[in-house]
Amino acid sequence: MAFKGWQKTSLIEYPGRVSSVLFTGGCNFRCPFCYNRRLVLEPDSIPDLDPGAVFEYLAANRRLYGAVVLTGGEPTLQQGLEEFCRRAKALDLLVGLETNGSRPETLRPLLESGLVDYVGMDLKAPLEWQAYSRAAGLRNSQRGLLKRIGESLRLLLASGADCELRCTAVPGLHSEQDLVSVAELARGVRRFALQAFVARETLDPAFCALKAYPAATLEAVAARVRGWFERFELRLG
Ligand code: SF4
Repeated sequence: MAFKGWQKTSLIEYPGRVSSVLFTGGCNFRCPFCYNRRLVLEPDSIPDLDPGAVFEYLAANRRLYGAVVLTGGEPTLQQGLEEFCRRAKALDLLVGLETNGSRPETLRPLLESGLVDYVGMDLKAPLEWQAYSRAAGLRNSQRGLLKRIGESLRLLLASGADCELRCTAVPGLHSEQDLVSVAELARGVRRFALQAFVARETLDPAFCALKAYPAATLEAVAARVRGWFERFELRLG
């Protein structure tokens, strides 16, 4: 696997554990509000980190960490994901995976073999082509992805794996009812997070100056959906 970034220590990326977070380059989505512009659009401009050095560090500092988390970009596009998980497991670390859900064929065996312990998956919009393609920046030739995202969602719901589904609320892309509909798709998972889009550098420059939803609007959505989940978080940024 090629890593493009490494946050050595995080207290928030893996629930309840101190984790080390690795970033992979490239993504098959083009969410206009994405904060990882360079990682998604120009991954080759970022030098690869040496995976050997990463594992050496983790082995030497094993007692500091409970988990590693793979994020991106989109990690399921990478070769060698399974091997990475095995190496982390050999250090007795829990493995977390952040994904956009577009590759259920990669997710399934990782869940079934217990190589991944926790999955964070973004739901970009209600599962309907117009809304999803706009929020995820998908082309018409990618229509098939919608079915695959639905498959990943069903996989997670059926697996009983520890997972968090989440949606970033972006004015202009999501109505309040859209946010409720997305939460409804996630019913049955333990954790759901509604997070406010906060303007900063974004993949589509037009979103850099976009005004976030007022907290009161998201609080009103939260009031409608929080009872559906064992753990619900409203992240206002
Ligand atoms: S926000 Fe969208 S474009 Fe950015 S990494 Fe995630 S799925 Fe890819």
